[in-house]
Amino acid sequence: MRKSHLIKPVLGNNYPVISHGKGIYLYDKDGKQYIDGSSGAITANIGHGVREIAEAMWNQAQHVSFIYRSQFTSDAAEQLAEKIAEYAPVDLNSVFFVNSGSEATETALKVAIQYFQEQGNMTKTKVISRWTSYHGITLGALSMSGHQLRRQRFTPLLEDFPAAPAPYCYQCPLKETYPGCGVKCADELETIIQSIGPDQIAAFIAEPVIGASGGAIAPPDEYFARIRAVCDKYDILFIADEVMTGMGRTGKMFAMEHWNVIPDIIALGKGMSAGYTPMAATIVSDRIMNVIEAGSKVVMSGHTFSANPQSAAVCLAVLDYMEKNKLQDNAEVTGQYLITQLQRLQWKYPLIGDIRGKGLLCGIELVRDPISREPFDLSTKVTDRLLSICFEKGLLVYPAVGGVTGFSGDSIIISPPLTVTKEQIADVIDILDQSLSDLTTQLITDGLYVTEATS
Ligand code: PMP
Repeated sequence: MRKSHLIKPVLGNNYPVISHGKGIYLYDKDGKQYIDGSSGAITANIGHGVREIAEAMWNQAQHVSFIYRSQFTSDAAEQLAEKIAEYAPVDLNSVFFVNSGSEATETALKVAIQYFQEQGNMTKTKVISRWTSYHGITLGALSMSGHQLRRQRFTPLLEDFPAAPAPYCYQCPLKETYPGCGVKCADELETIIQSIGPDQIAAFIAEPVIGASGGAIAPPDEYFARIRAVCDKYDILFIADEVMTGMGRTGKMFAMEHWNVIPDIIALGKGMSAGYTPMAATIVSDRIMNVIEAGSKVVMSGHTFSANPQSAAVCLAVLDYMEKNKLQDNAEVTGQYLITQLQRLQWKYPLIGDIRGKGLLCGIELVRDPISREPFDLSTKVTDRLLSICFEKGLLVYPAVGGVTGFSGDSIIISPPLTVTKEQIADVIDILDQSLSDLTTQLITDGLYVTEATS
């Protein structure tokens, strides 16, 4: 057996080799077909093997693939920045290109701190995040993330940033019930700001719909307007981490549009290039850019590959493809269909406690008891079990890791490419149906689960 030299996510695991992809499908070298029910990590928004993207890559590569951003700019990067600014809220007009979501949130953090420093305010250096959150893997981005599993080994190296409770109504971290709670989780932000001192805090960061650490948790409708008001009251910038939710995934170009709330900074990644090339961005408001322009004139971030024309050309072609095929609209329509089909499954399987999400970013949370909402013990590894049953049957879904503070449960995200049809969603539901049936049997056999039928 030839030993692989590639470091994989879990050493020793056997990963099938993918030979090609087409639309929502991936095929391994043995010819097995997988439905990409999560678009990879919610990234392959336009599906696999799109000819127009390959052509755009070739067209750009023939001219120039790489230039160094300290020396030159390119038409592709200029056009992409202009296009993103057109899509973004009115006063978010400046775009900084990076290569990953982690770099986009980390750049947002640096820009926020720099904004205050340029004005002579050197103490506003902390960023408040939420316990149930993930903003990236680099040390700065991880410092702003509540994701305990990813944080645990690196805690001594991380900044001790404060975190607020998330608007996670199904298992409220404050043990409240919506709407009677009056969205107390938003008020908690103010309490934290007051206890630390607003003079210490540069920004608050949040995912519009919580992804990797919670499984497509959307907040109550009032939540973000309240957050915006609190940030304004204390001169704190609001960063929307749209790395997962941005670029049409939730049925709007930016998920914050669902609540008509305008952030000061937006982080983008994943769906921007739909996975055809690494590319991410930080969009910055005029208010911030005016201060930096009047001051040092340099945004203190940047990478060798930032704003490279090859990636920019790919992103332009992805946006073009999305517009031509009205994929944002499709996300809304098929997303609603997906939710109704998942609700059908909920009638059948009491394991499904909650169904949630926006557009084609949907999640289900699995519980031991749907009435008490009691989660499974984490050692039961219910998410992992469901994931591998689905995998065997040729359906890829995304795990939202349980065991993080503020999120005790097991959930999966179902987020196929935005090109998905209703017929294909029916196939996803069929496999999920069989998988939940197998999971129920497996848990009962292992003595880990009791249903009315078995008690
Ligand atoms: N922010 C959010 C909301 C994410 O979901 C992720 C990735 N899961 C990141 C940031 C980090 O992005 P990347 O993995 O591209 O660094």
